[in-house]
Amino acid sequence: MSHGPRAPASDSCDATVAEWFGVPARGAGRQSQSPRAVFPPGVPMANFSEPRDDGPEVVEAAPMMLLPPAPGLCRFCAVDHASYAPHNRDSLFYQMRFHQAHGRWPRWSDAVAHCGERTTMGCANMLRTAGVWTQEDDDAMNNNTAIAEPCE
Ligand SMILES: [Zn+2]
Repeated sequence: MSHGPRAPASDSCDATVAEWFGVPARGAGRQSQSPRAVFPPGVPMANFSEPRDDGPEVVEAAPMMLLPPAPGLCRFCAVDHASYAPHNRDSLFYQMRFHQAHGRWPRWSDAVAHCGERTTMGCANMLRTAGVWTQEDDDAMNNNTAIAEPCE
């Protein structure tokens, strides 16, 4: 078994990122910790404001593009679930796609809105017990403003 010298983990990670973006690993590793060193030219980077003492840092990022979910996964939440089951509101893919499509973040009431009445009521009860079903969810269901996205 060989115990020869190995490249530091950070160098190999930077080289992999550089390979993904099709640019040489120039500047990767210890000489530069900046992600700019591994992004190809012309790709806009996020602009960070100066940190403020009185609030969160504002980040202006370039528009995002979501890749489609892997085959066999729900096209809305990228989770493997039955078509009659709710979407996973906590799926980052669901949240980002939903926000792009509807201009607001999804609620659990949106995630269950395409389900049958019995499934919706059962899920709402479980989520209420877990403390994540809110008054907004009740209002959305009562006012029929939850956004249903049927799986098929
Ligand atoms: Zn789903």
